[in-house]
Amino acid sequence: MKFMIETYGCQMNVADSELISSILIKAGYTQVNSVYDADIIIFNTCSVRENAETRVIGRISSVASPNNGHLLIGIVGCMAQRLGEQLKKINKKIDFVVGVDQYSQLPEIIENSHRKNQFISNTIFNHSENYNYFIPTRTNETNAFVTIMRGCNNFCTYCIVPYTRGRERSRPIKEILHEIEQAGKNKIYDITLLGQNVNSYMYENNDFPDLLTEINKIDCIKRIRFVTSHPKDLSDKLINVMANSEKVCEHIHLPLQSGNNDILSRMNRNYTAEHYLNLVSKLRNAMPNIAITTDVIAGFPGETEEQFIDTLNIMNEVKFDFAYMFKYSERSGTKATELDDQVPEVVRLERLQRLIEAQTEITTEKYKSRIGTTEEIYVESVSKRNPNEMSGKTRDFKITVFDGDESMINTFVKVKINEAAGWTLKGNIVRDMSLIVAVDENFGIGKNNDLLIRIKEDMKRFKRLTTNNIVVMGRKTFESLPDKKPLENRTNIVLTNDINYKIEGVITCNSVDDVLKICKEYNKDVFIIGGEMIYSLFLPYSNKVYITKIYKKFEADKHFPSLNNSWKIIEESEMKTTDDGVNYQFFIYGGN
Ligand code: SF4
Repeated sequence: MKFMIETYGCQMNVADSELISSILIKAGYTQVNSVYDADIIIFNTCSVRENAETRVIGRISSVASPNNGHLLIGIVGCMAQRLGEQLKKINKKIDFVVGVDQYSQLPEIIENSHRKNQFISNTIFNHSENYNYFIPTRTNETNAFVTIMRGCNNFCTYCIVPYTRGRERSRPIKEILHEIEQAGKNKIYDITLLGQNVNSYMYENNDFPDLLTEINKIDCIKRIRFVTSHPKDLSDKLINVMANSEKVCEHIHLPLQSGNNDILSRMNRNYTAEHYLNLVSKLRNAMPNIAITTDVIAGFPGETEEQFIDTLNIMNEVKFDFAYMFKYSERSGTKATELDDQVPEVVRLERLQRLIEAQTEITTEKYKSRIGTTEEIYVESVSKRNPNEMSGKTRDFKITVFDGDESMINTFVKVKINEAAGWTLKGNIVRDMSLIVAVDENFGIGKNNDLLIRIKEDMKRFKRLTTNNIVVMGRKTFESLPDKKPLENRTNIVLTNDINYKIEGVITCNSVDDVLKICKEYNKDVFIIGGEMIYSLFLPYSNKVYITKIYKKFEADKHFPSLNNSWKIIEESEMKTTDDGVNYQFFIYGGN
């Protein structure tokens, strides 16, 4: 049978949907992306705000039309946990309701519901369930959400989560590292660790900073993020590990909620405004460029105008990079709904508006201050607004769009920022040379240019081939091309405009600096250079042993016969960066 999942709410739900996919695929189900192709539709729901639930209820009604009579409809997630069997009363087309700790039962529940044509509900909490034995089916090719803990013990008085997700439990460190390594092997370089309060992660005496330290050692991962941090549990040890782990990004989401101590106490947040400000100053001392984002609630029960001003003041003092701002919304089942002195709706809205105005000004200022800087961007997708632009994020989590093409997805590029449009940065790629392909000229180029064809295929595979390539090759390699006359100057390196060697220019290079300069000047990406130059030119830019080894390998292999159709990459270096910030990478080709 074919299933489709519609996900609502937070990243935790996105991660859970990937987990559910994995469980169902393992059981023999097939995932599809359209209701029209599906036999089963699963709504992974959110209960944090009332309108999140209203949206899902509306969507269920539209899907459960007579035209879709064959569809099995299931509800999972927080709303399933909160309402359980009551959901059947809301819409009788619902076939199954499954709570957050019962996802491993889904194949059986679906099967039974389908076979017996009966409604099934299972929302029993299982506080030992961590889904350790399932690697989620990733739906995003650049970013992986990795759940490190489930549930919450904090019982903030406005929040439904402890009732829908149960008590806090941390996943074994070994399982988390395994899941991250798997993501890295699939070339997903950006990891976000998820938990309701990641700062209280604890597994067999390993706390959250210990976990970060271990993840930072995983080679194939380039960026580590995490949400959400509770201010009461943000330790000096964590700040220190963040500052000293090069892969941990300079960003923290630290919910403030209110700037007034009485309101924080009524919210059961267990920290004061002074504690929060102290954390901000410690974070900025350790990481001067850190971006701090937050959540704020306007109009919590009992909030006076003066108490609200305390929140506004803190926002103006801290100058958050971004804030998720909400008016207080009652959730039945939470303590805050029972508090007297609920703030009138109109006042909540008015305060929210003032928060938004203040923060918009701050965010605009922050984003504008980035104009003129060059940022490292992890390219994630084609821009939603303009198919000719790409979209990615800075290390400090700012969406950035720039000129580019799909071949860049999953790579890191440098973008010079020239505009701040709302909460998006815009810029142009600073086109560093990103790749060096070194070819030993003694192998020649192959009778039918098969080496270059092979390289082109590989470049595509590595997503490096852009519309702006260059082939640079040594004199002897150039002369070995069909119909090419000998060059006069022995130090020449030949630049051609593409893989078909249409000559664009002949330029003398005596050092890698020359080569890098030319590449920058020509705004080009790909190099091919004669083998003798590997040693003499690139030695200062790479690991000595590595280059020597390659050179020796070439020397030993000089007797190789013609390698038509048998070229392959025999050595591949890590991506490295020169002192002036140019990225480069070696791919050494040889034959069987
Ligand atoms: S820490 Fe508070 S706001 Fe966050 S999930 Fe737990 S109870 Fe809800």
